[in-house]
Parts: sequence; structure tokens; C-alpha cells
Amino acid sequence: MTTGAGSPRQGKGLLFVVSAPSGAGKTTLCREVVNQLPGLRHSVSYTTRKPRPGEVDGRDYYFLDEGGFRKKAERGEFIEWAEVHGHLYGTSWDQLLLHSEQGVDLILDIDAQGAMQLKKKEVEGVFIYILPPSFDVLKARLMERRSDSPEEINRRLRKAREEIWSYREYSYMIINDDVKRALSELQAVIVAERIRMKRMNFMWIEETFIKNKEVF
Ligand code: 5GP
Repeated sequence: MTTGAGSPRQGKGLLFVVSAPSGAGKTTLCREVVNQLPGLRHSVSYTTRKPRPGEVDGRDYYFLDEGGFRKKAERGEFIEWAEVHGHLYGTSWDQLLLHSEQGVDLILDIDAQGAMQLKKKEVEGVFIYILPPSFDVLKARLMERRSDSPEEINRRLRKAREEIWSYREYSYMIINDDVKRALSELQAVIVAERIRMKRMNFMWIEETFIKNKEVF
């Protein structure tokens, strides 16, 4: 979609904030939707967690140690940050502003604590919550991953239970019982939000249809 002066949509990029309990399938959905929709990018967060095999610094995350992270936090470089599953994660102002000014829409895959910080700061974003179809499915998905110990799985399930109430703060809920359907719902939200009347460039409408006096 074109943006900027002289285009139907206003120049500023949109923010899509996506949260979910661990195991709801959020990472896959966010990755796929970025692959499928032009003009949408995944925000790259900072984290103190070690890279997983295949993860690339600067593409998946900016990996740094706790000291470096806390210094950035003290300097106020993060618009939000939180401890998630024993590691620190944060979104930098820089990257948010850069994309917004370039008119690129950003998808923020962040946990509910971070999303609530953005709400408190009255950041204008579209808040989307993803849930699995049931608690049992969530448990089964976490166990299938085989990457986490039973203690870690329990910790994640407890966190899911605690945070689930924050869903009321979000504008959209997607139940991920079928990845294809969930993906099409996520796309539908993004596409519909992009064409909301309030995002339109009224100057463009005026110049194209009102000031243009040409008639046949
Ligand atoms: P993972 O380590 O599996 O990539 O992510 C773990 C959790 O941290 C996910 O729920 C993810 O959404 C969240 N997360 C990733 N980046 C950020 C961030 O910048 N801020 C916050 N608050 N959470 C994040």
C-alpha cells in the first residue's frame, strides 16, 4: 500500500501489538502475516536471552547482556520492557519512530506486561490477543515442544492463567485452533485497520476528486 503525501493513506505507519500465552502459536502467525502482507514489518526487540539455533542478531532480536540492557532501560531507550520467563525484553523508541515516520506498519510481538505499558502511555496501536482453543491444548502444545522442562512448562501455564485477564484490554481476539484460519483473521484485522476512514489522507481525496474539475 502506498503511503505519504499524495497517496490515499496518511503517511504514518500503524502499530499492531500482538500478545498471547506462550504456546498459542503467536510467533508463527506473526512471521507468516509479515511474509504475506506487503508494507508490514516485524519489530526487532532487545533481549538478554541467548540466541536459539538459527536466530540472527539484528534480525530476530538484538541480543545483549543484562548490564547492557539495564543501561539502555535507565537511559529511557525503551518504550516498554519487561521480564518474561526469566529474561529481559524491550522495544526501543528508535525503531518504533523510524518505521512510523517511514510509513511502514509494524507488528510488535510482545507479552501482556509490555502491551499494558504501551496502553498506559496511550500509544496508538491496534491490540490483538491470540488464544489457543483450550487450556488443555495449550498444555499439550507446550509439552510437544520438548524444549522446556516440566517446571518451565508449569511456570508458563501459571503465567498464562495470571495474564489471561488482560485480554479485556485488547481490541481483537483470535482463537488459534486452526493456523490457516487464525492467519486469515489476523490478516483481516490488519487490512481492515489500514483502510479505516481515520487513516485516510483527506488532502489526497480533495485534490483528486474535488479540485479536479475535469468532467466529460
Ligand atoms: P521468545 O524468547 O520465545 O522469543 O519470547 C518470549 C516472550 O517474550 C514472548 O511472549 C514474546 O512476545 C515476548 N517478547 C518479545 N519481545 C518483547 C519485547 O520487546 N517486550 C516485551 N514486553 N515482550 C517481548
